[in-house]
Amino acid sequence: MNKFAAVLLASTVLAGSAIAQDQIVVGVSWNNFQEERWKTDEGAIKAALEAAGAQYISADAQSSASKQLTDIESLISQGADAIIVLAQDSDAIGPAVAAAVAEGIPVVGYDRLIENPDAFYLTFDNKEVGRMQARGVFEVQPEGNYVFIKGNSADPNADFLFEGQMEVLKDAIDAGTIKNVGEAYTENWNPEVAQANMEQFLTANNNDVDAVVASNDGTAGGAIAALAAQGLAGSVPVSGQDGDHAALNRIALGTQTVSVWKDARELGKKAAEIALELAGGTALDGVTDAVKFSDGPNGVEMNAVLLAPVPITQDNLNVVIDAGWVSKDVVCQGV
Ligand code: BGC
Repeated sequence: MNKFAAVLLASTVLAGSAIAQDQIVVGVSWNNFQEERWKTDEGAIKAALEAAGAQYISADAQSSASKQLTDIESLISQGADAIIVLAQDSDAIGPAVAAAVAEGIPVVGYDRLIENPDAFYLTFDNKEVGRMQARGVFEVQPEGNYVFIKGNSADPNADFLFEGQMEVLKDAIDAGTIKNVGEAYTENWNPEVAQANMEQFLTANNNDVDAVVASNDGTAGGAIAALAAQGLAGSVPVSGQDGDHAALNRIALGTQTVSVWKDARELGKKAAEIALELAGGTALDGVTDAVKFSDGPNGVEMNAVLLAPVPITQDNLNVVIDAGWVSKDVVCQGV
């Protein structure tokens, strides 16, 4: 390299680092990118930070609760001014969150509750998602044998969803018109685990299953694969959530009944805005639109923002198409 090029390079690097030093840095700790939605969430966070002149740094814990602890330490040492966390395990994450808070770095629990009053909580109303899932199935199948494909047990959303589902179905269960003939958590929300659990429930009930309340679209896909193997796909209603493209197509095809759509673009944008507010010194209870939330397992009062979910069935698939979430071609493929 000639001298001129070297000087040019050095000044570019210096200029780059000078800008970087002024910039607010927001770190995001992802637990994994297994579900389709998380890349959409990420894109929205990144875009909102870039638009505000802030820097996005991130880490992917690849479903490991212990890796996520070191990921957060690393985001702290890289100079994050605020940290957004999609927790793999809401209990295991505690020490990392405490370490960030101790250093004065605000933490936003993203989508999944981290029950620490010093963290902020941003999510969709998960109990309401559960109610919508149960209602979607109950409306077409108000009696008979129900199976519950629950989420990952380390994710508090699994129980919020189940609570919402039970609220809707309780009367029918108490009256005996609906029977719970199988219920299982799905390790890591893994669709293959959901499929294996569904196969077991079908076998245990001699295929006498009338409805499946599955807690997201990935697990719904697993359950529907198990139903299909018994020639039952399309005749047994199944719920989900996320508005995964494959799930919206299954709704059009009639093998899935309802998906609860949570516009991840909105959640991501909101997370970036909240992280920037907090990094700028706003108190947790001063965040725009903040409300109090104390519905977690330990009843800890948190400052939170809860966005509203939307149930999608064959009757309103246009909602996700009109919102630019998915194209009509993708939804209607094979119909
Ligand atoms: C989220 C769902 C998602 C699931 C698996 C839950 O905490 O709320 O949207 O499908 O995790 O990633």
